[in-house]
Formats: sequence, structure tokens, C-alpha cells
Amino acid sequence: MGFRLAENEKDRYLSELLQSYHVFAPVAKAGKGAFSDTDVVGYGEIESFGDIVLDRKSHFSPKEVFYPVRETLFQFLKDEVLETTIDEKPLVVLVRPCDLNGVRRLDTIFLKNGQEVDTYYERRRKKVKFLMVECTEGFDTCFCVSMGSNVATDYDGALRFEEGSLLLDIKDPALATEILRDRPEADFQVEYIRENKVKVDAPPLEAVTKDLFDHDLWTEYTSRCIACGRCNTSCITCSCFTMQDVQVNDEKNLGERRRVWASCHIDGYSDMAGGHNFRKKHGEKMRFKTMHKVNDYHRRFGEHMCVGCGRCDDVCPEYISFSKCINKLNQIAKEVAQ
Ligand code: SF4
Ligand code: SF4
Repeated sequence: MGFRLAENEKDRYLSELLQSYHVFAPVAKAGKGAFSDTDVVGYGEIESFGDIVLDRKSHFSPKEVFYPVRETLFQFLKDEVLETTIDEKPLVVLVRPCDLNGVRRLDTIFLKNGQEVDTYYERRRKKVKFLMVECTEGFDTCFCVSMGSNVATDYDGALRFEEGSLLLDIKDPALATEILRDRPEADFQVEYIRENKVKVDAPPLEAVTKDLFDHDLWTEYTSRCIACGRCNTSCITCSCFTMQDVQVNDEKNLGERRRVWASCHIDGYSDMAGGHNFRKKHGEKMRFKTMHKVNDYHRRFGEHMCVGCGRCDDVCPEYISFSKCINKLNQIAKEVAQ
């Protein structure tokens, strides 16, 4: 159902939402930028629509809201194990279409990848509703259209900020607050970006052969990538984590188990029992990530894992472009096939 709210009604809708939900959106985090006295755009709780930053892409994706960077799973106290609880109040998260598609990729990994679901992810994820922000322009590094992620229709609500008003398309009645009741419906169809400046062609699955894995392409990244992991932490679809047992006394019987985001680019990620490591070079790690994003996941689940948000290109301190890497891989696949 479509609704139109006047400028002076927008924050009343938000304050009604806040009675039942925490509301998260991209906001400027003062002083948190890479350089001194600079901001970074990441997800935070809002109290007014004026808090939201939409003219810059968020460096961090919305996954940090319901898949925390560091999460205590349980605490152990002598012979007792105490499972942690979470805030029961549900969340509304404002996302762009690419990120909503990215959330579906995370859902697949955590909830539909085998017989067991990840209960720690599930308990948080069940509390989240998504208000999708219409996105028709994108940013310089976006390539969502190439990845088929520019359109998302499985939102709980969608919104368009217009000069002097807010248009809403509400699918989940729980997001239709008091101010929307008995209000005449407005005609609002969400529009989507249809062309990005960056265009990417991933190689077709049948063209991804051993030749591509062995190709010299990856040596470039051995010399350029510094294995900082920023591309992974900013990615909406990266889901890897590591476990940490943290003890707080000398007897090792008091402490907690945490899971913490991990990165396939960072040294130590590929360490195995016996001291083995089969991906030591940074180029090999880049190959692993690339193939995971546009090949392995695709073979298993029928679509690219990468949604083309372009954040990895935005944050890489070595100016490594993932979109260019995919295009190079495709070009090599064509040459190998000739
Ligand atoms: S790999 Fe890069 S472009 Fe693709 S979803 Fe992750 S951050 Fe976005
Ligand atoms: S952000 Fe760039 S330098 Fe850092 S790990 Fe990723 S590709 Fe390598």
C-alpha cells in the first residue's frame, strides 16, 4: 500500500516506529574516518530522518546490525555454561536494493547451507524488518545491474525521499503505524537503477577451468594486496568468522566464547592442523575470494554471491578494483576458450 507523508509528518512516522523498533540507517560517524578529523558512513540508530546519510555510500554494510563484528555466544563459569541473550526489541533497517539482495545471500549461507541453521544468526535475523530506500542513481563504483542485484521486491516496506515529502510502500502491516491509518492511498511504485557507470561481466561457469586458477593474473595481487581485509569487512556478503575463547582467570574456568568476523585475505585464515597453509600468497587469497564471489557460490546456489555494491573498491587502500578483476578474469576465459 502506498502512502505520502508531508515533510513535517516524516518524523512522526519514525517516532511511532521507534515505539516498537530500534531503527538503523546509514549515518555519519564523526571522527571514525581513516584520516584524522574525518567521518565514516556506517550503520547506526536514528531518531530522525535527518540523521540519515544517503548522498555518500556507507563504508560498512548493514550486516553489522544483525551479524555483529564480535558476538559473545556463551559464558562459562566453572561447570556452568550461560548462553547469552539478546535485546528482544525488533529492528527496522534501512537498506538499498543491492544490500537487501546481499542479506538474502547471508541468509542462504547461515540458514540454508546444509541441514543445520546457525541459531545465533537466526535469533537476531528473525527480529529484523527491512525498509528499502529507492536507489535510482547509484555511485561511481556500483555494478549492481551487472550482478542482477539492482532490483529487490521482497522488502517489508520501501521509501522514496522526495522534495517536501516521503513516499512509502508498506507490505508488512506491522510497519503501518498510526499516522498511516485512514490516510488515502498514494500511487507509489519503487523505481530501480537500470545502468551503472561500471559494467562487469563474470565468466560463465563452464568457462571457469583450471587454466583460470593457474593464470598469471593472480600474481599482480600478490604484489599489490597488503592483506588488510578491508574488502571483506565492508562486504555485505562476506560471512566468515573465527572463534575465540577468552578466559578471565588463571584456572581457565571463567570466561566466554566469542565469534568474530574473519577475512580470507588476512594471514592465518587458511592455517590448518599440522601447520599447513595452502594459500600463502596474497594473489592466491584474491583468487579464492574472487572465485567464491562469482563462481563457487553460483554453482551451488544459482546466482552470484557478489551483489556489486562496490564497497570493496571504495575501501581498498591499494586501489585494487574487484570489478576490474572480474572483467580481467572474463577476458582471460575468452582467450583460453579460443
Ligand atoms: S565483493 Fe565487493 S562488490 Fe561484491 S558484494 Fe562484496 S563488497 Fe560488494
Ligand atoms: S582491501 Fe585491498 S589490500 Fe586490503 S585485503 Fe582487500 S584487496 Fe587486499
